[in-house]
Amino acid sequence: MNILVINCGSSSLKYQLINSETEGVLAKGLCERIGIDGMLTYQPEGGEKEKSEIAMPTHTEAINAVLAALTNEKSGVIKSLSEVGAVGHRVVHGGEKFTSSCLINDESMKAIEECNDLAPLHNPANLIGIRACQELMPGVPMVAVFDTAFHQTMPDVAYTYGIPYEYYEKYKVRRYGFHGTSHSYVSKRTAEIVGKPYDQMKIIVCHLGNGASISAVNCGKSVDTSMGLTPLEGLVMGTRSGDLDPAIIDFVGKKEGLSLDEMNEVLNKKSGMLGISGVSSDGRDLEAAAETGNKRAQLALDVFDYRVIKYIGAYAAAMNGVDAIAFTAGIGENNIKMRKDVCSSLTYLGVKLDEEKNNVRGEERIISADDSKVQVLLVPTNEELAIARETLALVK
Ligand code: ADP
Repeated sequence: MNILVINCGSSSLKYQLINSETEGVLAKGLCERIGIDGMLTYQPEGGEKEKSEIAMPTHTEAINAVLAALTNEKSGVIKSLSEVGAVGHRVVHGGEKFTSSCLINDESMKAIEECNDLAPLHNPANLIGIRACQELMPGVPMVAVFDTAFHQTMPDVAYTYGIPYEYYEKYKVRRYGFHGTSHSYVSKRTAEIVGKPYDQMKIIVCHLGNGASISAVNCGKSVDTSMGLTPLEGLVMGTRSGDLDPAIIDFVGKKEGLSLDEMNEVLNKKSGMLGISGVSSDGRDLEAAAETGNKRAQLALDVFDYRVIKYIGAYAAAMNGVDAIAFTAGIGENNIKMRKDVCSSLTYLGVKLDEEKNNVRGEERIISADDSKVQVLLVPTNEELAIARETLALVK
């Protein structure tokens, strides 16, 4: 069966068409500038990337453009839409309602909508994508795969904040965590590569991209993760601050005359490695700047690494041990020096990196020495494949 995987944002939409038998990607790409003008990128398997300007006043036109590209006589990969057996949608927030993926119907749509205020920037966009697909592909089964679902196994001690309990009762303010599809996929792959039963392992997954989070996966269940009610908490990210003293919001807001909304914007879009360095949110730019002697770029990289080291220590403590640590996502998969620097601070856990094995980008492999007490791995994440698998399991 061919499964169309859709990751829909407010003005962009990523897609992949995956053959569920071979798990190969038949075509992939993205729509950008939806609601502004519209740009489609389309790349069939083994073919060149094509870019075309197509008017996309709404997500419906964007998805229509994707479907037209997939069925195009010349560069398409399927003859007709009847060859799309199911659609898997990434949905950011499933609140406490969704502990796993679900088939999309009127009832689940209503429940997803009820989670909108927990992710006001993401969930409404995800819903728009689902509705546009329903309109263009009536009768094709669809599945929602939530970023938060994998972390719903966290115990109350991990998800409860130290604030009046009534805010949890009234507004469901608690830790949810994100990147769940990635943490689930990477932790399972880690157990497979190491060759130990998933339900007997203590694994720490470091998903380090522009958005970054770490999770503690004990016996196949997420027991803690660094992102919180929103993706702002935890690690220092590309543009997000991660953990900070909440009093800073009032202090800086008053000094700078910024409203709460404006402070929220500062913490989400102007902080993190961008804010510290003043150079860029992108790890590659920072490395280049640091090499030319830019001290703040170096500081940003060091602060990033230091926060990762602290979280790994915290999660080893939370699980009373750790068997494997896996690195994934843009920085985790590609930044050799970051992995080396982080691991050099984990010798107290029995971590021993093999520098030669670590000298690789984006390849699935064990990078710790044979006599390392804790196995360290590089596991490229594949959220689209994980969504396709979840979708297949529910529509079969
Ligand atoms: P997101 O999906 O959250 O937008 P990614 O997982 O794509 O983010 O990660 C983006 C980060 O990965 C950037 O900081 C970038 O510098 C880093 N990155 C990507 N490729 C490389 C590379 N080849 N070498 C070093 N860093 C890389």
